[in-house]
Amino acid sequence: MNTTTPAVQVRQLCKNYGSVQALKGVDLSIAAGEYFVLLGPSGGGKTTLLRTIGGFHKPSSGQVWLNGQEVSHLPPDKRPTSMVFQAYALFPHMTVLGNVGYGLSLAKLPKAEVRDKSMAMLEMVGLSGYENRRPHELSGGQQQRVQLARALVLGRNILLLDEPLAALDAQLRKDMCLELKHLQEKVGITFIHVTHNQEEAMTVADRIALIADGELVEQGAARDIYRTPQRRFTASFVGENNLLSGNVTAVEGDTVTVEVCGQPLAVDRRDLPVRAGETVALSIRSELVEMVSADGTAAADGCSLSGTYAESVYLGLTLSHRAALADGTEIVSRVVGESDAPDPAPGTAIRVQWKPGALRLHVN
Ligand code: ADP
Ligand code: MG
Repeated sequence: MNTTTPAVQVRQLCKNYGSVQALKGVDLSIAAGEYFVLLGPSGGGKTTLLRTIGGFHKPSSGQVWLNGQEVSHLPPDKRPTSMVFQAYALFPHMTVLGNVGYGLSLAKLPKAEVRDKSMAMLEMVGLSGYENRRPHELSGGQQQRVQLARALVLGRNILLLDEPLAALDAQLRKDMCLELKHLQEKVGITFIHVTHNQEEAMTVADRIALIADGELVEQGAARDIYRTPQRRFTASFVGENNLLSGNVTAVEGDTVTVEVCGQPLAVDRRDLPVRAGETVALSIRSELVEMVSADGTAAADGCSLSGTYAESVYLGLTLSHRAALADGTEIVSRVVGESDAPDPAPGTAIRVQWKPGALRLHVN
């Protein structure tokens, strides 16, 4: 196998369940050794995509290639993949060691080899000394690590994880996230992890693909998806973005003028094909928005909107100020840390402003 051969290539993949189009022509390429996350809202098609890669579903059309070989019609055990199920999928009557070695025993490997490989894998996931316990004698996080060991011990080089942390409580989930990331770095194989949780995705991923309504919306490194989302949907799903809609009044070189509530805003064209007269979407992250009094110093041209103060919401680490534009659109400004200055009274005229470049243009 060529080292540059992608671990996973999905080509024009479609999957229908009766009249439901769960996947609508997905193209995807995942490099060997990547930690790849499929992120998106519930019902978007993430599980269907993962299970089609693993061979649990047959594509309605399109192809799946793994390690440079077309596998679209091969069963799961003939693919270089193994799947991590949720913690409760362990066999309750078997020991931890029995659970981990189960797949290898099925494959009729010699007993000593099954034991050695299973013990090595338990050490890898930090569970040495737990081999004789039963699943009910383990915490949720430990059970999940047994699941990981059970999948990894098969020696396949693509690991599929469908919402692997969903059954865990919030704190454990955070800890396990980092553990997963470190485990993947240690074993060096390709991980494909499905989640609807953006923080989980950003913690573990080398690269994230956003999946919604059966389509791949956008993909990239966590940082790029967060900072420079290309599509409006990405801006609405990742981070806390203010979404605006306006009419293009002028396009001059790289600068587009968009009118929002009768006020002209300047935004970079970003090579998007926009023309005067069109309606476009704009977004700006809440932490890049500042709220100031209506008669304060003006911001740069095209970088502010007037509005009416509504309220503040105290969230501990951050404080969110909420205001409304003339047409009722809500704008949120999120500030880290606390301020001694009193909040404006609800109904006070204010201005929201930002630095040039913070506002982003999306074509609908
Ligand atoms: P996700 O994992 O992103 O929540 P799924 O892949 O489970 O999404 O589902 C995608 C779409 O396919 C949804 O509309 C879901 O209702 C539908 N779906 C999933 N599995 C089946 C099935 N076995 N039969 C019929 N419809 C299904
Ligand atoms: Mg799912």
